[in-house]
Amino acid sequence: MTHRRFRLGIMGGTFDPIHHGHLVAASEVASELGLDEVVFVPTGQPWQKDAGRVSPAEHRYLMTVVATASNPRFTVSRVDIDRPGPTYTADTLRDLKTLRPEAELFFITGADALEQIMTWKNVEKLWDMAQFVGVTRPGHDLVELGPETGIKLMEIPAMSISSTDCRVRVQGGKPVWYLVPDGVVQYIAKHNLYLPSAHIPGGGL
Ligand code: ATP
Ligand code: MG
Repeated sequence: MTHRRFRLGIMGGTFDPIHHGHLVAASEVASELGLDEVVFVPTGQPWQKDAGRVSPAEHRYLMTVVATASNPRFTVSRVDIDRPGPTYTADTLRDLKTLRPEAELFFITGADALEQIMTWKNVEKLWDMAQFVGVTRPGHDLVELGPETGIKLMEIPAMSISSTDCRVRVQGGKPVWYLVPDGVVQYIAKHNLYLPSAHIPGGGL
């Protein structure tokens, strides 16, 4: 009997807030590639000047837990939010490899994030750490990548949703129902996230 390795998808993001674009991307890749689990990994808190522009990690983590709770194959990891300093994908992959040594890793990334990764220093070492999967995102072209990346490109249902737009909508008193899961709508309201008065460190946690 041949041993099949556990196939672990990784969905990294700021998730401020998590929305249905993230969830559809994870679900589609899981289905297409036969992943056993997708772990969502909220990024750490940016340092210094950027810190005020991103919600506290604990809020982003909890919204991600709420949004993924109903899917038995979706989990959430604290590796990036518990590691001090800025989040680098190489560190995320190294930590998950240590925690899950048996797993084959698949790193899921949208077209816009992929473009950024390509500009990083030492990007070439990433391709051996995981199978990268680039997914389509409305308004962004999937960049041309060399064969050394081994990246898989996947067309997924177009979800014209961004966290930035969700935050702007909440701030402007517009609804985010059906853009984010119901529990996330309720979490945002309960904690007064994304309102002009909510830009206080700690954000009411
Ligand atoms: P922000 O507007 O704050 O940058 P975002 O909507 O881009 O938020 P992120 O948390 O930055 O969300 O993205 C996490 C990952 O999910 C990235 O790889 C990104 O490309 C991907 N992603 C986000 N939204 C979509 C979408 N609508 N369709 C496909 N991929 C997406
Ligand atoms: Mg983004």
